Formats: sequence, structure tokens, C-alpha cells
Amino acid sequence: MISKTFANQESAAQRVATGLMKIGLAVKSRNWSEAGSRGLTPTQAQILSFLKGRLKASASLGEIAEALAITAPTASDSVSSLVNKGFVTKHRSAADGRSVMLGLSDAGRRMARQVSDWTDFLVSAVDVLDPNEQQAFLKGLIKIIRTLQMRGEIPLSRMCITCRYFRPNEHEDRSTPHHCDFVDMAFGDGNMRFECADHEVADDDMQFAAWSRFLEMSAGQQINPENQMSNKGENP
Ligand code: SF4
Repeated sequence: MISKTFANQESAAQRVATGLMKIGLAVKSRNWSEAGSRGLTPTQAQILSFLKGRLKASASLGEIAEALAITAPTASDSVSSLVNKGFVTKHRSAADGRSVMLGLSDAGRRMARQVSDWTDFLVSAVDVLDPNEQQAFLKGLIKIIRTLQMRGEIPLSRMCITCRYFRPNEHEDRSTPHHCDFVDMAFGDGNMRFECADHEVADDDMQFAAWSRFLEMSAGQQINPENQMSNKGENP
């Protein structure tokens, strides 16, 4: 006889979604308290983190709004506040003198490092997973996030899966099946990036081909964590 606990019709996908929402609540709560303790709003803290992760640490207002999925007026208000606090500076784009680019001041860089560190509480929680579990979880997250991006639910980020240098399942070694053309190196699922400073967006055809090929890889492989990278200590 099936107990009442297991008799409901909730699918595994629904339970995973419930778990992700609980993690989301923890992140939101921590984000408010950490940013607030430094005199920032969560959006201001996210802007500092975003600029810190940018190649050359600068971006236009439109790029910030798009990356954080916020409106242009919200981005503008937050940036103005960060400029007034001395964390963000404005300068003319080298490529287009009419465009204003936003960057971090020295104080902004220090604050960006501090606000980026608050995710350590999540890292320590993920550390309870063994290496194979972490790798399977990471691959699952990549699939979920990429699916949400393709549906327009969340903004694109500088993930390997949308990068023109990414060649998935290129190698026979199942521990390091992918290849990064930027550094000319093989790497495994566990080294795939969500935010890479070297990322350059692939065109639509390349993205579609990479996504299809990435999904081809058989699920549930057991990977030797000692062999996660073919060339340890270098990017990716
Ligand atoms: S590691 Fe960076 S440069 Fe290499 S494929 Fe991934 S996103 Fe692109």
C-alpha cells in the first residue's frame, strides 16, 4: 500500500522546481541583508558584480539593464546612486565617442569584490555534494538556464554554451569531451562557465549547433574528478 506521503501526483520535475525556489528564497534573503549591510540595494550590488566580471570592467547602461533583466530607468537610478557614492565612473567609449561607458573606480572594485564574496554560503552548501554529484548538478543547471534563456525568461549570460569558442563533445575522452578554442584546451562538464571574461557570443546557427551537440552526450556518466581538465591550472 502506498503511503499518503508518496501518493500525490507531484512529478520529480515539480519537486526539483520547488527545491530551486527554496534556494532562490535563500539567495534573495542573503542578497538583501549583505547588500544592505554595505549601504547598497541588491540591484546596486549586482551592478558592481556585473562590472567586475566584464572584460575591461566596463559596460553601457543598456548592457547592464539587459544583463540584469531590469528596466532602463531602474538601471539608470541605480547607476546614478553608485556614481554619487564614488563606486562607478563614466567615460566615453573608445569605439564610439558618443556612447557613455560605465566602469568601476578603485573603491568600486574593492566593494565589488566584497559583494561578490557573499555567495560563499552557497559554495559551502554545494560542497556537501561529491564531485560526480556536483558535475551532474552543474550540467543540469546549464540545461535549465539555457532553456530559460531560449524562452526569453532570463537574459543571456557569458556561458560556454553560447560562446563562439565552444566546441562541445569534440573529444573521445569522456572526462574532457569539450574544447575551448580561445585557450585551445579540452575540458569537462565540471569546468563549463556561466560567466567567462573571454566569452564572445556565437551567431544563432553556431549556438543551435552547439546546443544540439551538447545534448547528444549521454546522461549519467561517471567522471573521474582527477581528470576534469586536460591541462590543470589554466583557463577554462
Ligand atoms: S571557457 Fe570562456 S572562452 Fe572558452 S568556450 Fe567557455 S566561455 Fe568561451
